[in-house]
Amino acid sequence: MRLFRCDNCGNPIHFDNRVCLNCGFRLGFAPEALGMYALTPHESDPNLWRRVDTPARAYRFCANAEHDICNWLVPESDAEPWCQACRHNGLVPDPNTEEGLKRWRRINEAQRNLFYAFLRWDLPHPTRKEDPQGGLLFDLKNDEILPDGSCKPALIGHDEGHIVIRAAEADDLTREQQRELMNEPYRTLLGHFRHETGHFIWNKLVRDANKLDGFRAVFGDERADYGEALQRHYDQGPPPGWGASYISFYATTHPWEDFAECFAHVLHIVDTLETAQIYGIAIEQEVGLNPYEARDFDCIADAWIPLSVALNAIHHSMGERDLYPFILTPAIRAKLAYVHGLITRQV
Ligand SMILES: [Zn+2]
Ligand SMILES: [Zn+2]
Ligand SMILES: [Zn+2]
Repeated sequence: MRLFRCDNCGNPIHFDNRVCLNCGFRLGFAPEALGMYALTPHESDPNLWRRVDTPARAYRFCANAEHDICNWLVPESDAEPWCQACRHNGLVPDPNTEEGLKRWRRINEAQRNLFYAFLRWDLPHPTRKEDPQGGLLFDLKNDEILPDGSCKPALIGHDEGHIVIRAAEADDLTREQQRELMNEPYRTLLGHFRHETGHFIWNKLVRDANKLDGFRAVFGDERADYGEALQRHYDQGPPPGWGASYISFYATTHPWEDFAECFAHVLHIVDTLETAQIYGIAIEQEVGLNPYEARDFDCIADAWIPLSVALNAIHHSMGERDLYPFILTPAIRAKLAYVHGLITRQV
């Protein structure tokens, strides 16, 4: 993630900032320009804001700014009440409860981070209105309380662009319990968004683009029965030696899951490399590399491996677990390179 500068005073500002801490101007993110703008109220319309340094441009805030959930802007000419990220939402937590509001803010932060990458790479993200069969739709779903008082957790998953995120996973306790239960080294809301949209990207950039042969050559045949594969995974666990060719336990389940995991990792790696570079933590291999514009995954991996080793050591110094508890073997790098090639339209 980039660091931005306040149009008004030049102070560094972050992607999630609502006001400039130096000059007090309100800030908003304009997704179409990937820029953070300092804003002043429009003289004649209380719902509109003008850019400080380009007053001719007027914007509304996303409708979710009302509850301080979102800080993205919608151009005045766009009739949609929600920004490019929030317009994909179906079910959402109740912002009128303390719990709902806290969850939704956390989930939205992850969702906007996801969309930043989609916009940087110009990845497809039609709404359900634009693509009724396969557009992106997120249900941020609450768990169900059954008549006997027990809790039925919302199931995270995807179906032709319709993605369910379990709202309760915005709570650290719930998510950490789930991580332990599933024996996962890493589990975050952002990871869920990146993984589940990986399935959507597979639909759009592999299946619908007739690139199945190339996909199968790297990930295997996805026509293997998915239900059986999942059952086998839960019954028998991963195959021995899986770490040589799979980024995670879960990736071993089925080629679809392997692809979604690899998609998530390309996003993890590229975004974290960008952040490191912005803060001057670039290591030798990374100097001059713009991770979002790199045409070659090898240079990304060459920069990432030493950086992730350093980040893990830094985490240990703080008594924390590895930040990036994964190993990129040559076979895994080849899969990530394929996904990166797809994202950058080179495959
Ligand atoms: Zn400022
Ligand atoms: Zn929004
Ligand atoms: Zn999946």
